[in-house]
Amino acid sequence: MLTSGTVDEAVVHSRVHRLLERMNREGRLSGNTTYGDIGAIMNEIFPSPGVLDQAAYERYIDPADRTMVYHSVQDASAAPRSADRGDLRNAMQAAANTAQSVAADEAGLRAVFGPVEWTTARTNYGLIRSKLNAVSTDIANRVTTDYNLDAQETFLGGWASFRAQHMHLLSEVVADPLTAESKATLVHEAAHLAASSIDDDHGYYGTTGFEAKSHAAKVNNAAHYEELPRRVWGVSQYAGETFTPGVSSGGAPLTTEDRIREDGAEYYQRAWDAAADFDDLIKQARRDQLNGTALDGPTVARLLEVSPLMGLTLHEQLSSPPDITRLDVTTSESVVRAMGIAGDNIEALPNVVPSGAFPNTAAQIAAGVDQAVDAAMAAYGGLLGSATRDRRLSDWLHSHYRNVFP
Ligand SMILES: [Zn+2]
Repeated sequence: MLTSGTVDEAVVHSRVHRLLERMNREGRLSGNTTYGDIGAIMNEIFPSPGVLDQAAYERYIDPADRTMVYHSVQDASAAPRSADRGDLRNAMQAAANTAQSVAADEAGLRAVFGPVEWTTARTNYGLIRSKLNAVSTDIANRVTTDYNLDAQETFLGGWASFRAQHMHLLSEVVADPLTAESKATLVHEAAHLAASSIDDDHGYYGTTGFEAKSHAAKVNNAAHYEELPRRVWGVSQYAGETFTPGVSSGGAPLTTEDRIREDGAEYYQRAWDAAADFDDLIKQARRDQLNGTALDGPTVARLLEVSPLMGLTLHEQLSSPPDITRLDVTTSESVVRAMGIAGDNIEALPNVVPSGAFPNTAAQIAAGVDQAVDAAMAAYGGLLGSATRDRRLSDWLHSHYRNVFP
């Protein structure tokens, strides 16, 4: 990139600097340590104009290590290898059998989904069973996985499209599908395939307020279909509980702080989801470029719209259409990761949620969420060097939830 004339050298340096900074704060540069001054490291790696000192680079980065260096967008979306298909088929069929057994458990269905919606849940478990059985016999065509480890970086457990009836699974699930956690993921994704109403995710398993959602929300939320199979497999966080809307497992009504955490987590869940969709878009565009397929106009427009928001190189390039570089792919991926970590911060950190006695009103909750969103990104260390730019990006993503693909 330094010598290609595609983009100004200062742009390359600034993007590499940010990526090293993000890796460094998680202790992910060589030596599993955190280094003090990334500016000094940048000067070692780029000692003079147009020069990258490979030996200096390899002091901090191992080029062979896929957790440090991005290898292949082609590997990031591939059919499961034939050696991986047998166990995956068995896991899908085992999960299908469990779905069938919990469909017959009226007491369990009532405890999780409530006195009215339990019959819809029963129907949906039947559909989950048939979807799992159907996909299990056509894995080569209806399942993709990620052997490049992108999903581990972005916390993507998988996704499933009702329209395409397609499942994308984390490589860990494909490598080890018979564990209870992997089977719970299979049930979750099959729920998305079962009914178009189970499309959006409204709170992942175990997040704040998960057990306190309304019955109407639960019956359309894939993660709630994990609960009864998890009870069977001994990996439920709520074993034996009857879920009551608005009431946490401890029996207390949700506090203002709980509600701020729940809504704040929902904000970042949507921003993360949109970032993951953009990451999918840019990687598909990169695959198209590598295969010699020209990008269509709306895709180029979307890439150029997001490029300044995320600090990619596309809008800084000197030719058109832009060349999607590895810096762009990896920066996009790091944004997905940041949205995920900020969401975890809202869930877990004591100081990101404003303290004090709030009236438990919608306006107060919204004001608390607004503060918590900024605090959670600040606790991550920020993305773009400015809280205003970080918020502009997360707001854009949040408002483009399920509306990223042109
Ligand atoms: Zn989902």
